This record gives sequence, C-alpha cells and structure tokens, in this order.
Amino acid sequence: MKKMVMIMSVVALAACEKKENFQWTIDRFDDIRVMRYQVPGFEELELDQKLLIYYLSEAALSGRDILWDQNFKYNLAVRRILEDIYRNFDGDRTTSEWLALETYIKKVWFANGMHHHYSGDKFVPGFSREYFEGLAPEVSEEIKAVIFDPTLYPVRVNQAAGEDLLATSAMNYYEGVTQVEAEAFYAGQASAAAGDPQPISYGLNSKLVKKDGRLTELVWHEGGMYGEAIKQITYWLGKAAEVADEPQKGIINELVRYYRSGDLREFDRYNVAWVRDTVSKIDFVNGFIENYGDPLGIKASWESNVNFVDEQATKRTEIISENAQWFEDHSPVAPQYRKPVVKGVSAKVITAAMLGGDCYPATPIGINLPNADWIRRDYGSKSVTIQNITDAYDKAAEGNGFQEEFVLRAEDRERMKKWGSLGSNLHTDLHECLGHGSGQLAPGVTGSELKQYGSAIEESRADLFALYYIADPQMVELGLIETLDVAWAEYASYMMNGLETQLARIAPGKNVEESHMRNRQAIASWCYERGKAANVIEKVVKDGKTYVVVNDFEALRRLVGELLGEIQRIKSEGDFAAGRDFIENYGVRVDPVLHTEVLARYNALNLAPYGGFVNPRYELVKDENTGRVTDIKISYNESYADQMQRYSHDYSFLPSKNE
Ligand code: ZN
Repeated sequence: MKKMVMIMSVVALAACEKKENFQWTIDRFDDIRVMRYQVPGFEELELDQKLLIYYLSEAALSGRDILWDQNFKYNLAVRRILEDIYRNFDGDRTTSEWLALETYIKKVWFANGMHHHYSGDKFVPGFSREYFEGLAPEVSEEIKAVIFDPTLYPVRVNQAAGEDLLATSAMNYYEGVTQVEAEAFYAGQASAAAGDPQPISYGLNSKLVKKDGRLTELVWHEGGMYGEAIKQITYWLGKAAEVADEPQKGIINELVRYYRSGDLREFDRYNVAWVRDTVSKIDFVNGFIENYGDPLGIKASWESNVNFVDEQATKRTEIISENAQWFEDHSPVAPQYRKPVVKGVSAKVITAAMLGGDCYPATPIGINLPNADWIRRDYGSKSVTIQNITDAYDKAAEGNGFQEEFVLRAEDRERMKKWGSLGSNLHTDLHECLGHGSGQLAPGVTGSELKQYGSAIEESRADLFALYYIADPQMVELGLIETLDVAWAEYASYMMNGLETQLARIAPGKNVEESHMRNRQAIASWCYERGKAANVIEKVVKDGKTYVVVNDFEALRRLVGELLGEIQRIKSEGDFAAGRDFIENYGVRVDPVLHTEVLARYNALNLAPYGGFVNPRYELVKDENTGRVTDIKISYNESYADQMQRYSHDYSFLPSKNE
C-alpha cells in the first residue's frame, strides 16, 4: 500500500564505518546505478533460521518470470533473444553498436522488461535494426517491430484520463477487454457482495480475457496460468514450513493452500495470520501484492522480500516508543495542545536477505502491509523499514562528490560522514514513532480545517518534533546517541537540503509542489529568516557557488522549538490562514537563480537518479560424509550481468507465451 521509495543521491548522507574492500556500487548505465547490500547478522543466525531464509529465498526467486510476463506479454521472448545474443556474441565488444546493445540489455534486466521501471516508457534501442538483424537473423518481424517501432506499446501503464487505459497500456493484465467492460465486470462482483464486511480483493490474482465474446478470468494458481512457476514457489515454501516454528509454520502452509487454489478468501486468511504474527524473527512477503502496474488498480504484480529483525535498530525504536510520554510532556508545545496520554507506535526495523519479483532490483526501503482495508481496520498492519538497504544507499553515495560540492566546511563533512546515517535514521524514527502521534486538537476542531495545506503542515509538525528531540540531552541520557554531534550532522543536512539541494529534484521553471518538499523548504526558510539577525544560518557565496552553513546549532534548536509550538497551535486550532501563510510564504516559491545554479552543479556530478540492488548469493554447505547441510554460505561477489543470467538460467519456469 504505502511504499517508501528512496530518491537517490539528493540527500546524500554518509555512513559510519565502511567494511574494507566492499564494493557498494557495481554497475552504472543510463539513469541507473546498481549496488550491493550487506546482510549483517546472517552469519550469527541458527542453522534452522539460515535454512528458513534459504528456502524462502528460493521461493522469492522462483516467481521472477511471472512479473516479466505481467509487465508485458513480449518481455520473456525478448529477454531470451537478448540473453542469447549476449552469451554467444564473439565479435567486437567495443563498438558503439555493441555497447548500446549491452546498455539496452542491462536496462531491460533492471526494469523486468522493455519499459522503464519508474516512468513506464518503452526503451528506445541505441543500436540499429540492421545491427540487431545481423546478430539475430531468425527473429520474427513481430518481435523486431515490438523492439524498434516506438509507436507500438509506448507505455506500460497509461494514466492519461480520457483514453481507454487498457488499450493504451502495454501491461499484460487484460486481453481483448475494454476499460468499460473490465470496470463493469469488477463493479458487478463488488455489488454482488455488497454488505460483506470482509470483501475479497476482486480480480487481484488473475488476467481478465475475452474468449468467444465472454469475459473470463485466468486465475494465477498451481493449476492455472503461471502454474509452472507457482509450483516451484510452493515447493520451496513447503521446505520452509518444515524448518519453521509455529505460528509461522501454519502461516506458510496457509499461503501454500492459497497458491494451490487461487481462492482469494484463503489469501485473506493467510494475511490475517501473517499480520498477527509479531513474534517470528524471520519474516517474508511472497505473492501478488501491489497494484501499481495495473492502470485500473485491480491486478497485483508478483513480489517477494525475505528478511529478519534488526534487533539492535529495533531496540532504538522501542526505547523511543517507551519514552513517548516523556517526550510529549516536555515538548515546547502549549500544554493544552499536548496529548495527556500518548502511545508511541513501534515500527520494526528489518534486514533484507533476499529481494524478488517486483522488489528486485529496484526495491522499496519500507513496507506497510497487508493492503486489504478490512484487514487493516480489524487487525492492523505491519510497518517495517529496511535498514540494510538504506545503509547501502548511504554507503554507495560516499565519494560520489555530492558533499564535496555542496557542503562548505570540512567540520560539517566530517560530522556527516561519522554520524549522518544515524542522524537520518533517528530522525525517521522520531518522525514516525512520535511526531505524527503527538499533540491534540482543541475542542470542536476536526483536523480538516487546513485543507490543501493540511498534509504539508502535518509533515512539518512531525519533522519539527524529530528535529527538536534529536538535539535533546535526553537522547544521550537514553543511550540513543553518544554525542549531540549526531543532531548537528542532521541539522546541517536538513537545512542544506531544505534551502538548496532538494531543488535538484525540481524541473526548471517549476515551484515546490510535493508536501514533504514544501515542508522541508518551509522549515528551513523560516529558521533562516527568523535567525537572520543573529546569523544562525548563513548563505555563503564562494567562487560563484552558494552554500548553506549553520553557525549556531543551539540557537537553531531554539528556533525549531519555537516553530514546533506555532505549527502545533495552527494544527490544534485549525488556523487555516496561518497554515496557508506559513507554507505559501516559505515552502513554495523557488529562487530561479539559485535553482539554475543547483541544477547545473548537480548535473555536473553525473549522479544516477535511480538505484537498485543485486542480491547476495546463498549456498548450502554439506558434510562430505553424511550429506547433511551444516551451514549456509553467503557471498557478495556476483556481477550484475552474471546474476541476471544465472536467474534466467536457474529460475525460468515459464514459456515465452503464457495463457
Ligand atoms: Zn510523515
């Protein structure tokens, strides 16, 4: 439902210590950077836990072809042709034609198909049709047209209203069906079940086709469409259930039952059991989950994530939650707008061990599931942040030149390098676990008074709460940080981002629109203006380049406290005019001269805007005599192209055409 996605390299924060010789970034092409992530703590797990991760990981890889076919019906055929060429080519690998073909293959691998994973636009080959025909003379005209004709299937998911979204989208969730027919089909199912307090997610796990004039669902289950891949998934899930403890054993078996029948009621039963399991150290997602790939938002793409709890980091969020009342009682907010009884939300921090399907190679950094509204209402949801992935982003960003370009003082760079990761993780924890849950409204105020400024004000409130407390001596007292330098690293990054560097994400001539970006600019600009007389934050221009420098951190914290009090007042009283003025005066307008400068400096660094990851490799270690598994070896040395080809070789269970 709500996926947090990392935007690369704009808020580049450095990490604590670096493991020697670990190569974080392993490939770079077009607008993509491919990285590795580490799985800290894997070696220390019990053998049964490692085995469980191993089996769940095999299940996570077994569904790869499903996603490729869901994205576009020609994807598997084209992938096979391209990999054939890539494997067998014995010509010159330095010509521009070959290099363009290699880039094309890498892009197709990354996107799980021929359309960009984020924009959905079909890739334009940088090599000629003649060159391609020379390498693959037997390829059909149909396939060549799909690759080279830009007017054929130009976009995977079309969302331009007014057109038939199914006819104009390349995704493979419908065949021969118009948008009107599909919508009527599912509206009919929903109204037939009207009043059901526990409605299934209609159409989630099937392709809708028209056969002999009738609409039919091809359901994805063991005996149906994608059955050959699903059998592999259930085989490995079965092995996983053998080594899992209750309640997880039962939960995995529920999932297997659902994959066998394709019955969405079984899927809901599984989800209820899964969301109630808060004790298993190892956890996973495996199934047809998110519906972003369907322009109608009905059908779900296949994805998987295998993970285990990061005990250390989860301790951090638990300490914060346990002390929620203390933070509330000591906040700089007017007493009548503080919450008398506050309950912190504890979000689990996890370590990803394997990414699969729609979580690979581009992956979310946080997940909140399940998606069914009635399950969320009656049983809640699980919210996790994936820390080893954010760590990998941070570490890969080291040395990309961003900080050298935008941070003026060496002392700030040092502090960011040492404490930036912790500072930013802690900010997120405080924002999520406390900030949003703090404060209370005045009698008669509903919370909707702030209208279109409501969400930017709400994000400001949560950010200010986090900024205020990250610099509280109580943080050291609770053992969450060793030194307030963690806070000052976060302050320096936050102000630099809000006043300057986030402009790199805005197109020339545009203002700030997105709520989080408005909130960050508003907070930073307000503090800058308010502290101007005392020179708390300074914009230094050196050699024609603008830098943001915080001169007085303690004074900045006092400003943050003052603003927190005011923003909470605006929210509590539903003061629309004050909320509008704060956002409009500080959060929206862009200085065109600074904007142009930031874009030029950022673009000169040649940073990739999108990132993704190769997985580690797990191998069974067996006793020579007995054949028993004694350990699971984890390794990190596979290249991007090698991993993609190995997956295509070992985990390809579907034909090029599926129905
Ligand atoms: Zn928020």
